[in-house]
Amino acid sequence: MNRPLPSRIAYSACPHDCPSTCALEVEVLDRHSIGRVRGARDNDYTAGVICAKVARYAERIHNPNRLRYPLRRKGGKADAVAGFADWRDERAWERIGWDDALDMVAEAFAKAEARHGSETVWPYYYAGTMGLVQRDGINRLRHVKRYSEQFDTICTNPAWTGFTAGTGRLAGPDPREMARSDLIVIWGTNAVATQVNVMTHAVRARKEHGARIAVVDVYRNETMKQADIAILLKPGTDGAFACAVMHVLFRDGHADWDYLDKYTDRPRELEVHLRDKSPEWAAAITGLSVAEIEAFAKAVGETERTYFRLGYGFSRSRNGAVNMHAAQSIAAVTGAWQYEGGGAFHTNSDIFGLDKTMVEGSDVRDRSLRRLDQSRIGPILCGEAEPLQGGPPVTALLIQNTNPMSVAPDQTKVKRGFGRDDLFVCVHEQVMTETASVADIVLPATMFLEHDDIYRGGGHQYILFGPKLIDPPDECRSNHQVIAGLAARLGAEHPGFAMSEREHIDWMLKKSKRGTLVELEAARWIDCQPDFRTAHYLDGFAYPDGKFRFKPDWTKVRAPNNGAMGPHETLPEFPDYWPAIEVADARHPFRLATSPARSFLNSSFNETPSSLAKEGGRPEVLIHPGDADEHGIPDGALVRLGNHRGVVTLYARHFDGVRRGVLISEGIWPNAAFPDGNGINSLTGADPIAPFGGAAFHDNRVWVEVAGRPS
Ligand code: SF4
Repeated sequence: MNRPLPSRIAYSACPHDCPSTCALEVEVLDRHSIGRVRGARDNDYTAGVICAKVARYAERIHNPNRLRYPLRRKGGKADAVAGFADWRDERAWERIGWDDALDMVAEAFAKAEARHGSETVWPYYYAGTMGLVQRDGINRLRHVKRYSEQFDTICTNPAWTGFTAGTGRLAGPDPREMARSDLIVIWGTNAVATQVNVMTHAVRARKEHGARIAVVDVYRNETMKQADIAILLKPGTDGAFACAVMHVLFRDGHADWDYLDKYTDRPRELEVHLRDKSPEWAAAITGLSVAEIEAFAKAVGETERTYFRLGYGFSRSRNGAVNMHAAQSIAAVTGAWQYEGGGAFHTNSDIFGLDKTMVEGSDVRDRSLRRLDQSRIGPILCGEAEPLQGGPPVTALLIQNTNPMSVAPDQTKVKRGFGRDDLFVCVHEQVMTETASVADIVLPATMFLEHDDIYRGGGHQYILFGPKLIDPPDECRSNHQVIAGLAARLGAEHPGFAMSEREHIDWMLKKSKRGTLVELEAARWIDCQPDFRTAHYLDGFAYPDGKFRFKPDWTKVRAPNNGAMGPHETLPEFPDYWPAIEVADARHPFRLATSPARSFLNSSFNETPSSLAKEGGRPEVLIHPGDADEHGIPDGALVRLGNHRGVVTLYARHFDGVRRGVLISEGIWPNAAFPDGNGINSLTGADPIAPFGGAAFHDNRVWVEVAGRPS
């Protein structure tokens, strides 16, 4: 008989889609349950601090609504597509065994392939877990079976392209150096809500030696409330602000010409280009005053140790890549990169060098197969020829770690696509999400403490191990197990299918010269921080001539791409305000940003009662009181927002922390939380951002009208 284990503290890593990838201490109560989750105190990036939603993870992992058994749809999909189906409704689902479930999925895939060819099957996944084995193993099945590839655009593409355009590489000064900076510029990320550790190190710098914190964002969020310098922009105008700042830096003698001549490509042309990008010019575009722009530029110009912590938010705009490049260019003008606590940082994604060949089966990958853009799943499922790249329709989907019926842009098309009768969908999930509710087969998935995996930081430099600490409930299986089970039925052969999760991790570490799993388990994490000269690009930037690019060759930037997309022909040569955004017009007088909520992480956590309660219990849109008066919208009124893509009904909240004409809707609420069942992504577009794709979640013109009285 199994004896209960005594309560103990075990180590793990946060698996969620957040750059902090916190090192965790988990109270394990017995074989099946956990207590409190805390940040690891002896990890010098996490420094004992994690966000509240993960601290109360017991609520999520022991959620009574977790999926526990494989399910097969009994009825039609129409009701589920229209709203949020009750998974316990026995009329809609029947419980089946794992063998039967996997047999049915394999049979459906084989049938689809026989009719349309292998590319008709599209394994679809994303970052519901960031563990490399459980997240990326789906690609091994894809590659071996020659299914359609996935072009990952929904999150990182504009940001990574923009940053790489300047530096040539996704890496920068050690994020722990923020604690030694004199000015920390937190730009386009609500760190209090989405990566708490940035605040830990920034606030430490303020407490210990009087550093200032500047925050650049489109609304007065929790991070901006803590700022010494608050820069409240109109969405999509970051490039104009950055150019005016650089204009002042050149004008007032704060440009470091020794640095510029040694480390950058065309500083004199840049200076000339910026001559008419004055604070007056930028004020008219950004909504800032001339004095605010001058004061920020002065602070940056007079502070050698200025650390630009550049987030993803401001890249989720049709001009996002240009905005990111313009912001990082400021650090090159002042030469801040030279100093400890100075430079620009976005992510360390390029420093780890982990070999994922075995996990992903990239050794058998055929790059001639089509690679479908994940952000365009709506148009793809609706059968539009261009995003299908002239190939067969998608008639079978395997979905892990993502919830496109809620999080993908252009939700009206996404729903229409999932409603097709000829589309077979298998969803492997933890709870009955909107996407699971429209599946033909639903498989119950483990959560991170119920399987082994390996993680790497984005906002820091650690590789971490997350071991299986407790047994999953009932019949939940890991992603890795499901992929191996399907491979066996589909005749897919690759050594990776026969390996355990632990064997994969050990293989990856050894192949990457990062030690072994046993060593990682003993050490708990591996510090991969490059040395100071490398991290600060003191031996040159990652271009053949070692120069930072003020004038990048946009369509040749070393970033993941399917070739140039979007209106790339009009990309500006130098940092600029690129008006490729959805500007407001008479019919659509507002611009809407769909910013993250503190208690949700995309659609994760929006199933937990405490997160829903902390977010106020209902979806809202923040509107400036002046705009509300002008449009006759009382505080708390039910309003409709609309554009050519869809209509969303939610509640208005008056808020003076936005510019006039700007609306903010925080968080991805369940579709069912909206009175008409349409989630916020009914308003966002799937048209690709130049030059390499992505979704412009914060760049939407909309109209507003009252739909009901305040409540
Ligand atoms: S801050 Fe991010 S990485 Fe850390 S626990 Fe919260 S969600 Fe996870």
